[in-house]
Amino acid sequence: MAGRFGRAQGSRGAGERVVSADQLTYAFGRGSLRKAVLSEITLTLTAGEIVILEGPSGSGKTTLLSLIGALRSMQTGNLQVLGRELLNAKPAHLRQARSQIGFIFQNHNLLDCLSAWENVSTALRLHPEIPKRDYRPRAIAILNAVGLGDKLDAYPENLSGGQKQRVAIARALVNHPKLVLADEPTSALDSQAGRDVVDIMQRLAREESCAVLLVTHDNRILDIADRILHIEDGRLQP
Ligand code: ADP
Ligand code: MG
Repeated sequence: MAGRFGRAQGSRGAGERVVSADQLTYAFGRGSLRKAVLSEITLTLTAGEIVILEGPSGSGKTTLLSLIGALRSMQTGNLQVLGRELLNAKPAHLRQARSQIGFIFQNHNLLDCLSAWENVSTALRLHPEIPKRDYRPRAIAILNAVGLGDKLDAYPENLSGGQKQRVAIARALVNHPKLVLADEPTSALDSQAGRDVVDIMQRLAREESCAVLLVTHDNRILDIADRILHIEDGRLQP
């Protein structure tokens, strides 16, 4: 399906397997309170592709994203993310996996007391090998890429919803992750701001050849996807 929406094919690293889930099943609660949320999910994501995951509220989208993002421990099945098996992974390995992933949430989750570039730099702090003197230049480069070169020192309260979400994208991408997980990144935005945000994600994903898994039920942005997965009641629809 790549190409239908004008996405470049064959970019650097494209085709590499970034996520591979096999028979992944997950439940909340125990005993009589146990509630199955994900059932036998099997999927792969390869470098360079943008995959949209859509489905009704409560269908398990966020839970699946949090498992792939190593934000929650696996229960059953297998899940390889960036070459690492997450089933039974030790906390240090989960942390390591998380540091390799870019996260974008519905509500930007910026820290109000930090300026735009300082918010971006919080992601760099996860990587002790990056010298502190590189923080500002790296943050500036990525904020320029999302069109916020003139807002480097602005605080979140002085940014629009779309601008805040662009700072969040910059924070997610500043480490050049091979995997970006975005949970309803446009749902709090008006349609123009939402369009700008996904266009930027698409352009940067293409340039960096990273895989993007984007959860949404915003049908205004479905056209950026190479593939669309539908989930209902915790099952991917064929
Ligand atoms: P979606 O993102 O598609 O709206 P979620 O993954 O957030 O769905 O939730 C899937 C189901 O799991 C829902 O029925 C929700 O109520 C339930 N659920 C989500 N988080 C928890 C939790 N921490 N504890 C118990 N149940 C939860
Ligand atoms: Mg959700």
